[in-house]
Amino acid sequence: MRTSSVRGLSAPPRIVIATRNRAKAREMARILADRRWILLTLDDLAEPGPEVEETGRTYSDNALLKARAAMQASGLIAIADDAGLEIDALDGQPGVHSHRFLGADTPFPDKMTRILRLLDGVPDEGRGCRFRAAVAICAPDGTEHICTGVCEGMIGREQRGAGGFGYDPIFALPALGRHMAELSAAEKDRISHRGQALACARAVLESIAL
Ligand code: IMP
Repeated sequence: MRTSSVRGLSAPPRIVIATRNRAKAREMARILADRRWILLTLDDLAEPGPEVEETGRTYSDNALLKARAAMQASGLIAIADDAGLEIDALDGQPGVHSHRFLGADTPFPDKMTRILRLLDGVPDEGRGCRFRAAVAICAPDGTEHICTGVCEGMIGREQRGAGGFGYDPIFALPALGRHMAELSAAEKDRISHRGQALACARAVLESIAL
């Protein structure tokens, strides 16, 4: 008998969000929140497993590395994302290396100041950029799924807004006349790369976890 046919009698499935980035974990938990399952983070696990090096060549490779490691450490369904900012004027950089770009420990305001300086004099039409995300879901039975999302924008002329995280203050959304960091959490989730990938991931979780 499948657990879904005795819903209400069995404990809800537990799903691990496999990221050590607190801001990202908050976004993922907010988007995936559902009474039918319990979301854990790596901090909730007695044995969270070793820190995973992002050695993949693609966002999907890195998301899979992180989700597989958390699934193996916990024995639970695990979900992880990898994301990056691609800037046309920098030939797609920082891309899959977004985390390490200009130094993994460099504060984001400093990184964004550097990016704005690198794009000094670049006209609007050359300032295109996008956030890309891949979300991997790995289950103990060996099944693996990938969901992706992309959000197009422009590198703005200054840092604006205090919401979101990472590069959000320089990510301008011309159609909205605002920067990503100026959106409410719900507005960001509706349009963001991670929001799109996690909408797909929710459907995967519904089919494999319930
Ligand atoms: P990773 O997926 O943790 O490797 O993140 C790659 C880099 O992209 C990090 O430095 C993040 O801050 C940045 N990043 C990922 N998603 C977002 C986002 O939604 N907004 C702003 N920056 C992001």
